[in-house]
Amino acid sequence: MNTDVKKCRYCGKEISYDKMYCSEQCEKEANSFFQYRAKTQSGFSALNGIFVLGIGISIFVYSFSRTIGAVGGSICLMILGLLYNFFPFPAEIMIEKYKLKKAVFITKIIACVLFALGVMILLFFFLGWI
Ligand SMILES: [Zn+2]
Repeated sequence: MNTDVKKCRYCGKEISYDKMYCSEQCEKEANSFFQYRAKTQSGFSALNGIFVLGIGISIFVYSFSRTIGAVGGSICLMILGLLYNFFPFPAEIMIEKYKLKKAVFITKIIACVLFALGVMILLFFFLGWI
């Protein structure tokens, strides 16, 4: 049923069935990622929660105060962008699908998009477009 070939958990290269990684280098990279994640996960989750909540509050506040809503929301977006760039921890399902190297890369792209979105909202607000 399952005709998928086994792939390196880090880079996604095809490997033989008795292995998890294609090379020592990939194993080292993956281990350092998992160690870094284990060390920083709780702090990251707390900050992530605060600023995601911050975006929710900003959207809510926007209907009363456009300034606080727009500026607050864009600052939260920029901070989340930086946060995901320093702590690029993809969801397990993404790691499973894209393998670690690519999943981290995608997470960093999402981080840049969030940061750019924050800058754009701030800019649009000061230009009086929103
Ligand atoms: Zn590999």
